[in-house]
Amino acid sequence: MTRRMRALRASLTTVRAPRLPGWCWYLCGGAALICGYFLLKAAQAGGVVQVLLYGAVSLSAPVAVLVGVRAHRPRHRLPWYLAAAGQTAYGIGDVAFYLQRVVPGLHADPIPDACYLASYPLMATGLLLFIRRRTPGLDLASLIDTAIVGMGAGLVMWVYLLAPRLVATTQPWPVTVAYAGADLLLGTLGIRMALGCTDVTPAHRLLYGWVGGLFTADMTYGYLQLSGGYQPGGVLELLWPASALALGAAALHPSMRVLDESAPVPEPTVRLGRLSALTLTCLTAPALLYLEYLHRAPLNVPLIAAASAGLFLLAMARMKVLADAQRHAAITDPLTGLRTRRFLREAMLRHTGQDTGLLLLDADHFKKINDTYGHSAGDEVLVELARRMLAAVRPGDVVARYGGEEFAVLLPRTGLAEIAAVAERIRQSVAATPVPVTGGSLPVTISVGGAALRPGQSFDELVTEADRALYSAKEAGRNRVVTPAPATPHPADLRAA
Ligand code: GH3
Ligand code: MG
Ligand code: MG
Repeated sequence: MTRRMRALRASLTTVRAPRLPGWCWYLCGGAALICGYFLLKAAQAGGVVQVLLYGAVSLSAPVAVLVGVRAHRPRHRLPWYLAAAGQTAYGIGDVAFYLQRVVPGLHADPIPDACYLASYPLMATGLLLFIRRRTPGLDLASLIDTAIVGMGAGLVMWVYLLAPRLVATTQPWPVTVAYAGADLLLGTLGIRMALGCTDVTPAHRLLYGWVGGLFTADMTYGYLQLSGGYQPGGVLELLWPASALALGAAALHPSMRVLDESAPVPEPTVRLGRLSALTLTCLTAPALLYLEYLHRAPLNVPLIAAASAGLFLLAMARMKVLADAQRHAAITDPLTGLRTRRFLREAMLRHTGQDTGLLLLDADHFKKINDTYGHSAGDEVLVELARRMLAAVRPGDVVARYGGEEFAVLLPRTGLAEIAAVAERIRQSVAATPVPVTGGSLPVTISVGGAALRPGQSFDELVTEADRALYSAKEAGRNRVVTPAPATPHPADLRAA
């Protein structure tokens, strides 16, 4: 072999074509099986082979889940195993259901229904565990939004699918109701997962595809059955296996590892898209009633009235969550978690006429800390100052961030002597030990000015007085407290005591 050929061979072994990830291979393989199924269907050939191809796609998903779990080793495996078990039951149901259609004389009942109905609780429990692991706290906003969508969807399902089907079908009614309930549960859990998710990974999207595909296919199946238009081999036989492939691909995708990692609860704010969706959902109840009236159909008045009331109450509950969140944002300083100046002013107005003290506290030479150690070190100092102030005050005192590096403490029912004592306690708690910051610790001191509320004095006047005292503390050399001196008691009072 010549040197050039050897070099060419070496370059060919080092420069490889970009490798298709496993989950893409899986989707391509699944798509090929579905194509094979439809080709045989079109050729009206190989009935049993058709069923085996179809079942292979359905049952490939649990295998892909096991492979994915083994390859990516997620921290929590149970949700995946439950999803796989559910999909296995679904796949067995598929094989039994389609076999009895192509094998003359084969009666598989009740295997298909039993398998299908067993699959939903397993899948739903898996989804529930994904949701719980992702957002362990109570995400009330997403929960209410989900309940609104679930209630709206449930109403439409009842009026257009379940109620007519209960009349038309020969299927035992508990089976019909169980199918509808299972679909609604699975769809609702899928929506809850999507609404409460802040950091959406490809594995999430594929799982949404799984649940969304299954729900859409089931609803379409129910509708087509009612209208007598269901024929195996139509678009539904594309949607069902595609949803199974989405589950398998989700498990094979590397992002499945972080899918159930705890994520922050999303802000309860409502963007325009979600607000529009919730509004439309709430309007389904009156819209349904009007459509029934328009088509001279029997009016489901009690049900629609109950659903309207439920949707209205949920919308009001959502409004309360939103208002609470806005209020929290208005009265909480985002850096330190202390109260804001707005809250302090409100608290002050509640305490007029009582013995009330106010402290203003300002970090000494704080600009130097920022300039020397950086702004983030300054932020760390502010957070630690807030922590020490909270630890030094009494229950009922209000600690607020008044400005940049300036804090305020409202002391209700506090005499002059105690105002000075609390101020000194806070000053000492700051000066006593250096403040730990990333990469070391810094000596920090504060100056404190205090004032006591006099009858008829306004909030602004009290602040001005405390500010004057703070200015005196700075002038006197910093790291000190200036508060009004307690009035000297009259000798007669002392004798009486
Ligand atoms: P004095 O002892 O007279 O109070 O001096 P000082 O340097 O503390 O006062 P000055 O008012 O000159 O500087 C206050 C500094 O606080 C300036 C500003 O950049 C900084 N600051 C205000 N808000 C923040 C904040 O949120 N984070 C950080 N890191 N710095 C802040
Ligand atoms: Mg300062
Ligand atoms: Mg200042």
